[in-house]
Amino acid sequence: MKRESVGMVKTHYYKPPDALILESQEKLENITIAYETYGKLNKEKSNAIMVCHALSGDAHAAGWHEDDRKPGWWDIIIGPGKCLDTEKYFIICSNVLGGCKGTTGPASINKETKEPYGLDFPIITIKDIVNVQKQLIDHLDIKQLFAVIGGSMGGMQVLQWSVSYPDMVRMAIPIATSSYSSPQQIAFNEVGRRAIVSDPSWNKGKYYNLKFPDNGLSLARMIAHITYLSNESMYEKFGRRLQDKDEYGFDLSTDFQVESYLHYQGSSFTKRFDANSYLYITKAIDYFDLTQNGSLADVFKNIKTKFLIISIDSDWLYPTSQSKEILMTLSANDIDINYCEIKSSYGHDAFLIEGGQLNYTIGNFLSDTRVRDVMSHDLIWIRNDESIADAAQLMITEKITHIPVVSDDDRLTGIVTAWDISKAVALNFNKLEEIMTQDVITAWPDDSIEISAQKMRKYNISSLPVVDDTGRVIGIITTDHISTLLAGNH
Ligand code: SAM
Repeated sequence: MKRESVGMVKTHYYKPPDALILESQEKLENITIAYETYGKLNKEKSNAIMVCHALSGDAHAAGWHEDDRKPGWWDIIIGPGKCLDTEKYFIICSNVLGGCKGTTGPASINKETKEPYGLDFPIITIKDIVNVQKQLIDHLDIKQLFAVIGGSMGGMQVLQWSVSYPDMVRMAIPIATSSYSSPQQIAFNEVGRRAIVSDPSWNKGKYYNLKFPDNGLSLARMIAHITYLSNESMYEKFGRRLQDKDEYGFDLSTDFQVESYLHYQGSSFTKRFDANSYLYITKAIDYFDLTQNGSLADVFKNIKTKFLIISIDSDWLYPTSQSKEILMTLSANDIDINYCEIKSSYGHDAFLIEGGQLNYTIGNFLSDTRVRDVMSHDLIWIRNDESIADAAQLMITEKITHIPVVSDDDRLTGIVTAWDISKAVALNFNKLEEIMTQDVITAWPDDSIEISAQKMRKYNISSLPVVDDTGRVIGIITTDHISTLLAGNH
């Protein structure tokens, strides 16, 4: 299928009513969350995918704003026919807490002082960032995310989501990331921060009505940018070529193309990013350590999420070895896990560039959806010996039309539907056994959703109880759960 754009998009804003208690125990009030969505949320609200951005990203992950010269930052994988297919999924991306693209951060106005927060903004963590995203997901009335995906710092949020809200994340796709910041990563962040705070214009964070610390922020970005590339990609892109000259200048001016490129990257960054946000977000990255309360294995103990871990072979900032650490821990905990190493010369930045490999790997992972990934775990059933009136009452209170009937030892013995109840009224039946269907068509948790859809079509039914190998009902799957997720549905 042709890969297309989501077209023109808009940023939305949500103001959660309650104050946020941060990991530091500080309270933050009057938060605004900037977010974008692409695609449609299905009736069951089971097709939502949360996209988490990296350090310098924002809510604008795909499509176009009116004044854009290029599309959203992950447009290569979000849109009709792409792996985050907006014909199937409802994609949500929000700007992180502490950011400067619409969500509350140090440049926002502190309602108490009527001035930008500056350094009065509290220290935040990846956990806080995820807690803010959770408020948005609650506001959208989504009980469970079909998937959470992100690269670099976005990957840290993915891991945090699966640890903080294990029941809310069906699938997690952390890319080019780590379960803790390494000394080398902290070291690079600290050099960047020093560059900013050493700029006299930084003025202890109070620069919003004055000259901005552009030199410091630009330097911070130049340093960081080097870590996002690989030596090989720098050779490919610049070699030792000179910039606008044929010979060395034998002075301290810019000689090489790579220098000029970094200057450009640094200075253009100052036009789109706030220096204080850079300080706060890099600090949140440094503090990230899922192992802090014991071993990583303990942290991942209760996780039910299915994982796809992706690393990049030329990434030396978040090397494959860090992804493999997560992989080993998850495998030891018997978690359903897939792993892929992207082959690329682009270094860390490859997660924003390698559209072909990302679309293929992520697309296969997401479309390999099993019944257990999407079934409803809210177990509503009725016992054999209960009355038809009880079944009718249960359908009304729970707003459902299909109820599995189970024996005293919890084994499935039948199914009763609203259609059967009307039959009971018309023909004056009294007992559940008289109206329920005993020959129940069921699904296994590991069946693909395609197989379940085929069964439902074949027998003209819209719901299958999901049973384990002892015959006990463990969930239910309906056409509403799966219709938008099926391959070739559009
Ligand atoms: N379209 C409706 C639906 O999805 O159930 C009605 C189809 S069919 C005429 C209704 C009958 O199918 C009812 O007698 C009901 O008990 C039965 N039925 C529903 N789900 C079933 C399942 N998973 N296995 C066997 N029979 C089922």
